[in-house]
Amino acid sequence: MPIDPTLPYDDDNVFAKILRGEIPSKKVYEDDWAYAFHDINPQAPTHILIIPKGRYVSWDDFSARASDAEIGGFVRAVGHVAREAGHVEPGYRLLANVGNHGGQEVPHLHIHIFAGRPLGPMLAR
Ligand code: 5GP
Repeated sequence: MPIDPTLPYDDDNVFAKILRGEIPSKKVYEDDWAYAFHDINPQAPTHILIIPKGRYVSWDDFSARASDAEIGGFVRAVGHVAREAGHVEPGYRLLANVGNHGGQEVPHLHIHIFAGRPLGPMLAR
């Protein structure tokens, strides 16, 4: 069910629970700014989610409220995970869904990394 990204952060969302270790996840990478783990319902041979450690609903919220250090750390973590997973060649796709029209389901900012096969058109036709 898509969410309203203008709502306040919900500490009971599933990714907040993953960050607190209350529900399990398959960890790919972690540093001071970011946590990366495998999507539970992969849409490509590689489907990794990367989330900031801070309490941000969406890219909109993050880019408006996060510190330069949080933004820098998170963006570098996304690149690091993609490089370490070996996807720079032959390529990969990043995706951040925001709000209702974006189809965002979990109200904690997450970047999807899709890789491992040709990913087709950017949007469903
Ligand atoms: P969104 O549609 O919000 O951009 O994507 C949410 C993603 O989170 C989906 O791809 C979904 O499969 C994934 N997801 C939802 N719940 C869980 C969970 O409990 N664990 C993991 N690893 N992924 C989840």
